[in-house]
Amino acid sequence: MIIKMSVTATEEELSHVIERVKECGCDPHVSRGVEHIIIGAVGSPDKRNELEALRVARGVEDVIPITDPFKLVSRQYKVGRSIVKVGSVNIGDGAPVVIAGPCSIESRAQLLTTARAVRDAGANMLRGGAYKPRTSPYDFQGLGVEALQFLKIAREETGLPVVTEVMSTEDVEIVSEYADMLQVGARNMQNFSLLRRLAQSKRPILLKRGLSATIKEWLLAAEYLLMGGNSQVVLCERGIKTFETETRNTLDLSAVALAKELSHLPVIVDPSHATGRRSLVASVSRAAIAVGADGLIIEVHPEPERALSDGPQSLDLEGFSQLMDHLDEPLPKLARTVAVAA
Ligand code: PEP
Ligand code: MN
Repeated sequence: MIIKMSVTATEEELSHVIERVKECGCDPHVSRGVEHIIIGAVGSPDKRNELEALRVARGVEDVIPITDPFKLVSRQYKVGRSIVKVGSVNIGDGAPVVIAGPCSIESRAQLLTTARAVRDAGANMLRGGAYKPRTSPYDFQGLGVEALQFLKIAREETGLPVVTEVMSTEDVEIVSEYADMLQVGARNMQNFSLLRRLAQSKRPILLKRGLSATIKEWLLAAEYLLMGGNSQVVLCERGIKTFETETRNTLDLSAVALAKELSHLPVIVDPSHATGRRSLVASVSRAAIAVGADGLIIEVHPEPERALSDGPQSLDLEGFSQLMDHLDEPLPKLARTVAVAA
């Protein structure tokens, strides 16, 4: 339920409503806007009538049931959009951010070379995998804690906040010690014990869309994080599995626009995993920004042909710098028909 209160409601009227929401066994989530104060009441569907009765309480303008299965994530629940802070970087404030770095951290030199180059090209954050979810158990699985130590050095040297994937509940503590933001990979989007554990973390979360997850399932996965107490969540569309095999996945740009329509959370795009092809990364990145993405996460490697994972989709340092130079170029002008006066 959403309880919509007037901005002129007194503190006393507000506290009364909050108290009643708690008495009904619900958690009140208050969000203040210019025109309204919204109190989201989550929990106890059996107390619906009691909550609806608050319509006549002083200061209350309306009580509206939420039809979406996701509640705290829903745009109905919040006035305005969420901005997620990662160090000094704001994700969702209107200026798209770029996160760049290697798929896997392979050595100190590889990470530092990449980190310096992406920073010099204008990236806002550094990515790099320490624990890698690989389809084959014979493939490179990541350097683990050693890679986390390299990430820390790279952050200290470049000043870029870092994001890295955490694959299991056991690793949350150690990864949180080193990383500014924790990534939930596509394969773990519905790992509910991991989501519940991360809900208790103080670190912002980058939640990738599952390989075959619907938009609703993706937003419900985010709901686990918000419901558990962590509202610092950024959604990431990274392509889904379709019948198409020419690209690694199929980038669902409509999901980016729709997720922003349905949710107040920032949404970013991963053009690297979405396409699997280096040649498509720049154009798809521009398309993502055009559709309203709050940022991009892009794989970059100093020598992609030697990469231990995802070389074919990784940009080299020069390629990344060129992408950054063209990312915010204006779109071509339309060939409009010009009406001629009769
Ligand atoms: C990655 O970011 O390197 C990764 C494995 O991504 P995803 O979970 O989207 O496949
Ligand atoms: Mn990768």
